This record gives sequence, C-alpha cells and structure tokens, in this order.
Amino acid sequence: MTRKIGLPLGLFGTGILIGALFLHAAAPQRPPWLSGVEWPVPKAIDPGGLGKPPSDAIVLFDGKDLSAWEGAEKWKIEDGVAICGSSITTKQAFGDCQLHVEWASPVEVKGTGQQRGNSGIFFMGYYEIQILDSYENETYVDGMVASIYKQRPPFVNASRKPGEWQTFDIIFKAPRFDEKGKLREHARVTVLHNGVVVQHNFELLGRTNYRVPPYYEAHPDKLPLSIQYHGSPVRFRNIWIRELEDDHEELLTPLRNKLREIDWAFQPYNG
Ligand code: MG
Repeated sequence: MTRKIGLPLGLFGTGILIGALFLHAAAPQRPPWLSGVEWPVPKAIDPGGLGKPPSDAIVLFDGKDLSAWEGAEKWKIEDGVAICGSSITTKQAFGDCQLHVEWASPVEVKGTGQQRGNSGIFFMGYYEIQILDSYENETYVDGMVASIYKQRPPFVNASRKPGEWQTFDIIFKAPRFDEKGKLREHARVTVLHNGVVVQHNFELLGRTNYRVPPYYEAHPDKLPLSIQYHGSPVRFRNIWIRELEDDHEELLTPLRNKLREIDWAFQPYNG
C-alpha cells in the first residue's frame, strides 16, 4: 500500500528551506576526493549478442571442430554439438580466466550417483569443477554438479532436467607460487550455474583428488584446461575463455597502504 504524504510548504516553510540552502552553500566544502591512481583506460570490447562470445574471447568450440583441443579423436560432432568420448586438453595454456561452457547430460538417464552424466572442467589440469546430472540424483554433495570436487558443494542445486542445456560461467584465479615453489596464494574460483552463483570466490584447498587429500604442488603460471571423460556421453557447445591477464593491483597498493594509516574515527563523512 502506498501512502500520500502531504507537505504544507507555506511562506514559513519556504523561508526555512532557503535558509538551509544558504547555510549549506556557505559551509566550507572539501574538494572531491581523488584517488591519484593513474589507471590505464580499459580496452573497449564487443560483449557479443545473446549466446555469442565477447570479442576478446578465445573460442574453444563454436560448433564446427575441436581443433583447439588435444585428444579429441573419440569425440563426435553432430549438429554443432560435441559429444564427449575421451578426456581432452586445450592446446593453449591458461592462468587466470573466465570460462563459459554449455553442456547437457544424456537425455536417456543411465546409472545413479557419480555414474550419471559425469564429466568435469579441470582448470590447469588439477582443479575440477564437477559436471554431473544432479537432477534428482543423490550422491556425496561435494561431488555433485558445480562442486569443487571433494572440497565444497555448490550453495544450491541449480540443475536442469537431464538432456536440457545448462551453462557454467566460471571465474578462476590461478594459485601463485614463489621461486622456491612455496604456495604464496591459493587458487580461487567463482561459479555461476545456469546464471546462479553457486561458488563465490572459494579458496581452493589444493588439487581436487578422489583418493588423496587436496594438496598444492608448484606448477607453471599457465597450464592447459581439460574436460573430463568419465564414461558418459555428455554434450558440449559454445565454449569460450577470456584470459584475465592483469588486474593492475600494484597500482592500488600505495593507496591501500595510505588508507590503512588514516584514523577513520576522526574522519566525518562529507559527501
Ligand atoms: Mg567429474
């Protein structure tokens, strides 16, 4: 229900308003705050139409061939759709990236649990985001669809029915190691399943393994991406990736340090 609020603004009210405006104008104002950071101008890209990759994406499958991949001899391509027949690996190596994948588990439901429409996206060959037909299909929850395999389940189960097309949009940050191979920064991942955030900036515990606990072992900054074959003819289409090369964090570091020194208790808001 909406409520109308009457505001009688007579001569007296107008006078107060003008007075307030005058006082406000007369008060000393701080100049607008400027960060002082000299940011490069962000590159303009074409974001693409619905279902189309952005102009700066590297297309990994556009319905025609799997030439961007190694080991795809057992895959079939039918009507612009690639059908999984083996594990495949990109020819190109990637580090920090944004990945878009459309996939569909088989229409004919076979098996239960981990046997039903199992595949997976392995970032850098070591860190798996699970693909599984999790529509009314029980399994261990840290192995269901969109889980970080054996590390954390998704926030919700955003699955569509078997055979329906589903999307993954994944933002992956590669782990960082120092020169001696010691872990400096964990890998991080955010996952949108069918447009729903199901993992948010999750700090990976290490490599996603089935039989051994997660662990980190130093590896190059960039490594190929893999799609898993787990005996199920999962279908794929419209796969693209964008490299997230440089977040220019170093430009912000001096400002971050400076802001840490300010005693905010004595800094009244003056917007
Ligand atoms: Mg899997």
